[in-house]
Amino acid sequence: MATSTPAAKESAIEITRQNFRLAAAKLGLDADMQTLLSTPFREVRVEVPVRMDDGGLKVFEGFRVQHNGVRGPTKGGIRYHPAVDIDEVRALAEAMTWKTAVVNVPFGGAKGGVNCDPSKMSQKELERLTRRYTSRIQIVLGPYRDIPAPDVNTNAQTMTWLFDEYGKSHGYTPACVTGKPVELGGSQGREQATGRGLSFMVREVSRDVCLQLKNLRVALQGFGNVGSNAALLVAGLGCRIVAASDSRGGVHNPAGINVRDLILQKKTRGSVVGFPGAEAVSSEGVLEVDCDVLIPAALECVLNSENAHRVKAKVVVEGANLPTTPAADAIFEKRGITVVPDILANAGGVTCSYFEWAQNLQQIFWDEDYVNKELEKYMVRAYQSVAERAKKEKMSLRTAAYSIAVERVARAEKLRGT
Ligand code: NAD
Repeated sequence: MATSTPAAKESAIEITRQNFRLAAAKLGLDADMQTLLSTPFREVRVEVPVRMDDGGLKVFEGFRVQHNGVRGPTKGGIRYHPAVDIDEVRALAEAMTWKTAVVNVPFGGAKGGVNCDPSKMSQKELERLTRRYTSRIQIVLGPYRDIPAPDVNTNAQTMTWLFDEYGKSHGYTPACVTGKPVELGGSQGREQATGRGLSFMVREVSRDVCLQLKNLRVALQGFGNVGSNAALLVAGLGCRIVAASDSRGGVHNPAGINVRDLILQKKTRGSVVGFPGAEAVSSEGVLEVDCDVLIPAALECVLNSENAHRVKAKVVVEGANLPTTPAADAIFEKRGITVVPDILANAGGVTCSYFEWAQNLQQIFWDEDYVNKELEKYMVRAYQSVAERAKKEKMSLRTAAYSIAVERVARAEKLRGT
């Protein structure tokens, strides 16, 4: 389990458990169906031996969990991080089942990860790790079985190594992985898609809670693929970025931070820390700065029983997976803070991955404008159905999103007769 978890109970697995339980109770799901839907379909654990640059051999631990594939092949990212373990991967795989269902793309949920510290590894070591991990799990992957994508500390280059390694045993199969570079069958717009989806959510929820986009103060935790693109795109809507952080620390300027310059600094110096004109704040401190919208875009459990009562945002739009524990959710609900849940808010990535997979299977290529318009259509449609359900049944956006998702997966199970 990752990052600053205050209590043993506030774990990633407890987040999915509790959110599922709430939705299942609202839906009156019978006990057998609850057992079926909360049990992972397949869990793979592999040893990943890698020859390091100094000549020594290091053995890493890798996982791939396929939670549920009743609505289609399973889908989910691959994470490289020192906190990766089976419980974390299991929770993230389950979250993918609900995410793909809530945006209604024809996939199930999966997740993979390797317990390693990529900040201490060379590119060559990361390539050898990715190839060996792929060779050990390739038997359970495939375009109609399970399709990985990038997640924390993995990117288009990682997906290229995976694609190349998979091809050695299965032949040319671009649809076996998404998040590839455009030159190798990746989709236009995929790199920005999760951030773009988040910007649509900020726009939609702001209208619903009567906040003006112009000068809306936004703070972000995490400034990688998701956080930096979300910052850029919400700034494009007129919002003001007042704080951002990464694993080394954060920066805060109530007058606003120039996002393009911050991205440039992150690229050249590896961190947002020390950005000119901004005050220093800790990685976790950004969660508590004065702002209107908070976008956690790093790791899970960061909004918890210890800090939820200090959050000043009016709205939380979840870029990260599972950033809010049930205890924090209860505090937010009491304080009237609206939360756009991860399984909806950050689904832009998997939606665009679906477009990439569909393009690969047909060997056609969509232009970026078309991809972005389709993405907007899927995301806004999903938001509206969740918001309507929440209003109608007087529940949080999270419980509404889980209810829609669980209902769709349960229906598919029933239709298929499992
Ligand atoms: P990334 O590796 O590109 O970026 C992660 C960022 O988080 C980095 O800036 C890192 O420095 C920062 N970070 C790590 N630990 C931190 C800490 N303790 N405090 C503050 N910042 C910290 O990863 P990403 O792809 O941007 O993923 C971020 C989150 O979004 C993850 O929860 C991931 O599961 C989720 N997500 C990613 C995608 C995607 O398409 N990449 C899609 C949906 C959800």
